Amino acid sequence: MGNFGGTRLRKYIFVTGGVVSSIGKGIATASLGRLLRNRGYTVAPMKLDPYINVDAGTMNPYQHGEVFVTEDGAETDLDLGHYERFMDVNCTSGSSLTTGKVYLSVIQAERRGDYLGGTVQVIPHVTNEIKRGLLDLGKEQEADVVIAEIGGTVGDIESLPFLEAIRQMRKEVGPENVLYVHVTLVPTVGPWGEIKTKPTQHSVINLREIGISPDVLICRTDQPMPDDVKEKISLFCDVPVNAVVESLTVDTIYEVPLWYEKAGLGDLVVSRLGLEPSNPSLEEWNSLVETLKNPKQSCRIAVVGKYTSNGDAYKSIGEALIHGGIPNDARIEITWIESDSLELGRPPKEFLADVDGLVVAPGFGERGIEGKIRAIQYAREKGLPFLGICLGLQMAVIEFARNVCHLEGSNSEEIEKQPAYPVIHLLPEQKGVKDKGATMRLGSWPCRLNAGTLAHQLYGDTRISERHRHRYEVNNDFRDKLIEHGMVISGVSPDYRLVEMVEIPSHPFFIATQAHPEFKSRPNRPHPLFAGLIEAAIKQHAALA
Ligand code: GLN
Repeated sequence: MGNFGGTRLRKYIFVTGGVVSSIGKGIATASLGRLLRNRGYTVAPMKLDPYINVDAGTMNPYQHGEVFVTEDGAETDLDLGHYERFMDVNCTSGSSLTTGKVYLSVIQAERRGDYLGGTVQVIPHVTNEIKRGLLDLGKEQEADVVIAEIGGTVGDIESLPFLEAIRQMRKEVGPENVLYVHVTLVPTVGPWGEIKTKPTQHSVINLREIGISPDVLICRTDQPMPDDVKEKISLFCDVPVNAVVESLTVDTIYEVPLWYEKAGLGDLVVSRLGLEPSNPSLEEWNSLVETLKNPKQSCRIAVVGKYTSNGDAYKSIGEALIHGGIPNDARIEITWIESDSLELGRPPKEFLADVDGLVVAPGFGERGIEGKIRAIQYAREKGLPFLGICLGLQMAVIEFARNVCHLEGSNSEEIEKQPAYPVIHLLPEQKGVKDKGATMRLGSWPCRLNAGTLAHQLYGDTRISERHRHRYEVNNDFRDKLIEHGMVISGVSPDYRLVEMVEIPSHPFFIATQAHPEFKSRPNRPHPLFAGLIEAAIKQHAALA
């Protein structure tokens, strides 16, 4: 694909949002990408974020949700996770562009003297930089289609330069190669549940004022939209009625692309952009949605973390668990446990007695640390299937050092300045690092697995790579002690310097990784660690029944 009559004409789809935030623009963008992937097109997704942070790495997950890490080590918005999972593609640092990143390069260029003599302005300098980001990503990924989502809601002051840049893209690449998709809310109000189109009309007026006429409207609604409502929206917003796409709230987010397909959105986009039409292949997606909707089994997994009150803070972990259920034909019920609550004197049993598996989530700082350690001790002693992720591995090592190796006072240097036994300490290359932005050990790193271990059995390979985001590691001075007492170091960096995975073979399923496997899990390719945890949890569930 991609060579249309000998000339490569790259297409651009821009997704904006109206009326309210959090209406699922990310899922809409990701689902649109899936429709094109089902037709064999190469798609490069992109997120344009109006905030002034250069990347999401310095943001609090409470406010902003999870920080998603790409293969090449960019710390990005969680929407990139949706894109990767739905489209089954790898994003890169170029897939994320923030106001901060744009201004940083414009100001650096100004200081270098690139604009010497000129007055540096939003138009054209900032908008040019945004367009350069869009064009470069398409080129770098040799994409047939670039799909870019613009963060925020139309009408926000912050997003204006991005909207102006995408308006200019029509001139840049030709109007026939650009499609504007606007996601809006169609609410029902009043005692009779009347469907209201006015917010959508106003949001389209807003968009028009800045020179963008939407080609497609995706209408988020809790109730089916009757034809006359679609016709009204079509008339007032000047889009053909077949381009008013109803997007009902559905059981699983992975069903959204199938609804769009049924509504004819795939064919519409293909024809509007002049792409070669082809039959979408839907078998894989249909079958995974079928399993998600009608599974034969179920199990309950507890996730202990410090930001569990924000449902988006561990988005990829939640999704990876759901994916892990697919090969096991199982529905996953997730119990989110705030790590602090395990520190209030109540025994872990109160929280964990009726779950079939435990995940201890990544994190930073000391809050909730002892709660995590207590939960891990419970899982280790009771034979509860356990997966530790990043900080989860570090806490599993501390718990084992304290309670099995009898190294009382073991801790991480992140938590305590000079612990009696610093079993987790700063990575040597982190010493002297002062800046907080983009300075961790980030992105994909290779790992060697020891043959015959649980890790090897799950991955089916001894050479793997996983994405990382950490500053601390297992202190090698304690490796022998841990091994002596029954912990197996099943994965190390290829130079043997860094502990990547640990496990306890005497336990039914106890494994932890310094990496973030959740970022690589896809519904059509569930991650082996999550699929393995679910398999063990189902066995546990059956044993307890
Ligand atoms: N805070 C720990 C570190 O920096 C773990 C990080 C994480 O869980 N992502 O090493």
